[in-house]
Amino acid sequence: MFGPARRAPAARRAQRGTGLRYNRLMLDYPTITAALEDLGEPRYRADQVYRSLTRDYAADFQSMTVLPARLRAALAERLAASQLEEVQTLTGQRGDATKTLFAAADGAQVEAVLMRYAQRATVCVSSQVGCAVRCAFCASGKRGQRRNLSAEEMVDQVLHFARLLQAEERRVSNVVFMGMGEPFNNYDETLRACRLLNDPDGFGLAARGISVSTVGVVPAIERFAREPLQLNLAVSLHAGTDALRNRLVPLNKTYPLKELMAACRRYVVRTRRKLFFEYVVLADVNDNAEQAAALAKLLARPLYHLNLIAFNETGGRFKRPSPERLADFRKALEQAGVDVTVRRSPGADIEAACGQLIMRATHNRRPPGGAPDGENAPAAGVSDGSEAAAPAGVAHAEGASEPAGGDRQD
Ligand code: SAH
Repeated sequence: MFGPARRAPAARRAQRGTGLRYNRLMLDYPTITAALEDLGEPRYRADQVYRSLTRDYAADFQSMTVLPARLRAALAERLAASQLEEVQTLTGQRGDATKTLFAAADGAQVEAVLMRYAQRATVCVSSQVGCAVRCAFCASGKRGQRRNLSAEEMVDQVLHFARLLQAEERRVSNVVFMGMGEPFNNYDETLRACRLLNDPDGFGLAARGISVSTVGVVPAIERFAREPLQLNLAVSLHAGTDALRNRLVPLNKTYPLKELMAACRRYVVRTRRKLFFEYVVLADVNDNAEQAAALAKLLARPLYHLNLIAFNETGGRFKRPSPERLADFRKALEQAGVDVTVRRSPGADIEAACGQLIMRATHNRRPPGGAPDGENAPAAGVSDGSEAAAPAGVAHAEGASEPAGGDRQD
């Protein structure tokens, strides 16, 4: 029930000056039911609220016109229709990427990105505030503040963009957990978010339109392989040898390539699903012949697909490879038999490209309205020029080759 025990902490949090009422469970159907029961409302009202949120993308209770006015007011007093408050939204010059900075009730800030393609619209969501994994080149781990996001906070990122797209008469077709955080270090909430997004009585996004990206948490990969939902999995590889991967991905010391690749094989055998590997190409670090040869050995299996992502520079020692170098690396992999594409990463001009999500929330924040769209940063040459097919459902991918995905080359 929606008793005082639940309301009290929410009220305390609200007093901390964020101006938000905070209720972790808003989207959760039983919670809505309990709140309505508490108000002496009939059960079907819960369906109406849940559908208003997840199907009509209602941003608040006032807009749920299916409900009587007094009930709208009563609900608004008790619950928050969204866990996140929009702080700032920026759209890139080409209009294909929109990034929003959100504030949670405790003041934590997260970002998510909408990428518009001809045939699909992909939302890249954050699963944690900060990240404990600390990959050498990734900005997300550099942040002090850290916590897991709740499923509702993840879903709210998607609902925000669903509203935006609704105005354009478009829908979210793909959700990728490739923003800030390591989804498999927040496994239960990530999966709960996937189930909420997939709920046919709610948001109704096809499972094959949802992709979770992991740095390689082996036990979680095993668990993910047994999930009944047909979700996509992406594994961040970044190196073909343990010597190099240990340097780039500290978690490799816990789960070395042998173990990781064994888990990947089991995943594919069990699910018969295509498995996507991500590889951030760092100039003169992991773009050489030795790595290409090692990768070719690791990835010489059906259903394995490698996505190269040119490193987006975020300050620090790592550099983006030249387009020529990237093309050569790709060619070397192709010639060695690897199923490989180069991922385009839109949104660099608004710091919304792969790996850039943390920057604004960390130390580059501008006050709301402080930077007009497209004027805040120089375009950073986001596109690598590749028009190659890339898997649907994977963040920032240009084309599409996902079986049954319905999305095709844009
Ligand atoms: N923790 C998950 C999700 C991270 S974000 C994972 O590691 O898979 C998705 C991808 O963006 C990861 O492959 C990550 O390594 C990559 N990435 C991080 N920083 C980047 C940057 N600056 N440029 C390009 N890709 C980056």
